[in-house]
Amino acid sequence: MDTRLSDEDLAFRDEVRAFFAEAFDEDIAAKVSNTATMKEGMIEWQHRLNAKGWMAPNWPVEHGGTGWSVTQSFIFQSERAMSGAPDVIPFGVVMVAPVIYTYGTQEQKERFLPRILNSEDWWCQGYSEPGAGSDLASLKTKAELDGDHYVINGSKIWTTYAQYADWIFCLVRTDNSGKKQEGITFLLIDMKSPGITVRPIETIDGFHHLNEVFFDNVRVPVENRIGEEGKGWTYAKSLLVHERLSIAEVADSKRALAELREFARREVNGGASLLDDPHFAQRLGDVEIDLMALEYTELRTLADVAEGKHPGPESSLLKLQGTEIQQALQELRMDVAGYYSQALQGDLSDDDYGHDFASIAQKLYFRGRASSIYGGSNEVQKNITSKFVLGL
Ligand SMILES: Cc1cc2nc3c(=O)[nH]c(=O)nc-3n(C[C@H](O)[C@H](O)[C@H](O)COP(=O)(O)OP(=O)(O)OC[C@H]3O[C@@H](n4cnc5c(N)ncnc54)[C@H](O)[C@@H]3O)c2cc1C
Repeated sequence: MDTRLSDEDLAFRDEVRAFFAEAFDEDIAAKVSNTATMKEGMIEWQHRLNAKGWMAPNWPVEHGGTGWSVTQSFIFQSERAMSGAPDVIPFGVVMVAPVIYTYGTQEQKERFLPRILNSEDWWCQGYSEPGAGSDLASLKTKAELDGDHYVINGSKIWTTYAQYADWIFCLVRTDNSGKKQEGITFLLIDMKSPGITVRPIETIDGFHHLNEVFFDNVRVPVENRIGEEGKGWTYAKSLLVHERLSIAEVADSKRALAELREFARREVNGGASLLDDPHFAQRLGDVEIDLMALEYTELRTLADVAEGKHPGPESSLLKLQGTEIQQALQELRMDVAGYYSQALQGDLSDDDYGHDFASIAQKLYFRGRASSIYGGSNEVQKNITSKFVLGL
């Protein structure tokens, strides 16, 4: 495999780099990293991406995708991560949009896809329930047909950013008579519908990302159903593949590794740079090797997708390995930051790069505990990998 970039690719890289340097300015960086302004900042940032035509690299060109080669997509993500810009909020553009353009009606495509591209609707994902996480097909939220509406009763849990959402894509039970995977239906529900209540869940990092969502006789027009009634499991699984591909975050881990290396070079331990400590250098080297291997696995998967193949259980492998690497990097960051990691952001002087690095370590570490749970827990990804990839 020739991994050198062609002249066209190098020119593309320069264009992408220049775009991020200009468009991801200090104002937008401050907004997206502050909880109080995150939503507003992300919408503004996504508008800038969309104005450039780069909001939906994963979509087919006819719906507004970029038509990039695998190499171009790879360059875009690498440059995006290195600039410090966040990835797009995935629930609309990465998760529900492929379900809509693959299985939706023409009306649904025309109604929802342009609004997703332009960040007019904020989406959230209503899959998990109190008794249905890993065993998702056990979900109980009920949808009963009443004329040209479904009436929904039940609840969802761990719903990321439901507090901001205009729409929720939901798995609901329309039939109990057959296997539990049958009788599940995929609905698009307006969060302003009467009967929906959102209750916050605060997480260990001290922030409010998660929620419970309750449905009390919520009426949803039948026209908001994706595909056939009772076939939602098929659509739900194809969405999970897209979700897991996006969780590997190889480019962001490369940035985290570069930051870690830079800080360790400056940090002195007993008179020498931490990078010269053989034990530390070995731990860093181990993660770097795993990350390089993952990068090539991701490229192989992207190349398959570009050839029209459907990424299947390989996405589980990427999710599993990608999140283990993220957590290893977060642990190393905590170790390097030492007791400075206990300070809150702002407690330390912000003109010192080392202090910035240290004060965010704890937040990243605690938030990062969740990555081996969301998108399907890593234990479950191991089961999928052993069965469908290794054939055990
Ligand atoms: C930060 C965060 C954000 C999330 N966002 C969303 C969201 O926006 N929308 C949404 O619908 N859901 C979301 N989730 C929910 C997530 O998908 C579930 O938490 C996940 O699927 C695990 O389900 P559970 O929490 O019910 O755990 P359980 O399924 O009860 O699992 C408990 C433990 O048992 C293990 N286990 C379960 N079954 C097996 C098995 N067969 N073999 C081996 N081990 C097993 C699991 O690995 C886990 O360690 C989010 C979760 C988190 C943490």
